[in-house]
Amino acid sequence: MSIDTPAQQPCVHCGDCVRVCPDALDPETLFFALVKDDFAAARAARLDACSECNRCVEVCPSHIPLLDWFRWGKSESAERARADEARERFEARNARLARERAERAARRREVASPTALPVQTISHAEVLAAIARGRAKRGQRP
Ligand code: SF4
Ligand code: SF4
Repeated sequence: MSIDTPAQQPCVHCGDCVRVCPDALDPETLFFALVKDDFAAARAARLDACSECNRCVEVCPSHIPLLDWFRWGKSESAERARADEARERFEARNARLARERAERAARRREVASPTALPVQTISHAEVLAAIARGRAKRGQRP
């Protein structure tokens, strides 16, 4: 024996699903967010809080398989979050390696040409003048 499933119709925005949700969710908003692949909007509308009670499906006059959408959305959303985390870790690792490479290159440059110490030069005349001052202090003749 087969049970005929009523054909799905477009959402008529009746709000019945919102009224029956025990978790105070807006199934219509969740549905349209998932239809558009907008997982950020679905998460913001608390998709994960859906307790999968099926009440919204039971009252929907358009026979939209809302719960199927929500189950798919939860698993897809988790999958994408994992992929995002993996990508962020990969990018952070690349940035760290690039930073370490740059630091090593800077250290190598510093070793190859150390910062020159200031060289103090003194002229021959200044040397003679210093000697003369020393002798004068000691009372010697120049
Ligand atoms: S299945 Fe989820 S969204 Fe639908 S009424 Fe139940 S808790 Fe609310
Ligand atoms: S019950 Fe069905 S038709 Fe009514 S607003 Fe919700 S999804 Fe749309």
